[in-house]
Amino acid sequence: MSDHDITQTGPLAPEDVTADSPFTLPGFFDALGDGRLLAGRCTDCGTHLVPPRPACYECGSRAVTIEEQPRTGEVVSYTAVHRPPSPFSDLAPVTVAVVELDSGARLTGRVTAPVEEVEIGSSVAWRARDPDEVGIDPSAHLPYEEDWPVHEFELTR
Ligand SMILES: [Zn+2]
Repeated sequence: MSDHDITQTGPLAPEDVTADSPFTLPGFFDALGDGRLLAGRCTDCGTHLVPPRPACYECGSRAVTIEEQPRTGEVVSYTAVHRPPSPFSDLAPVTVAVVELDSGARLTGRVTAPVEEVEIGSSVAWRARDPDEVGIDPSAHLPYEEDWPVHEFELTR
């Protein structure tokens, strides 16, 4: 076996995109459940793709590699959602932020802190949790989503 693993670096042939491929949502969530956040990185234009996609949505290139993402980053935008989608209604108001990870990849998610405690530039770290631990209504999931973990951000200072 060579050190060039086509299933991790693209371009992909259709037969490479199996359910456990990191380029699919099930593969992405499997890794997240193991505590690994995967992004695609376009080697032509540098765009991060979270979750990974087999082709870059900025430039259309299929030269996409999988990169494990760091756990920490900072808030670049945030808001409070007072009437979130029904699965999250027990958690309202929900603080939602766009976070730029230390890699430069951007990811949107819930912050486990009141909006008053969050600022642009706040340091956060993500973690993956089971949906039922978080308080999300389990009946809102499609059957195949039930075991998919959710990510959330915690303030680290
Ligand atoms: Zn690109």
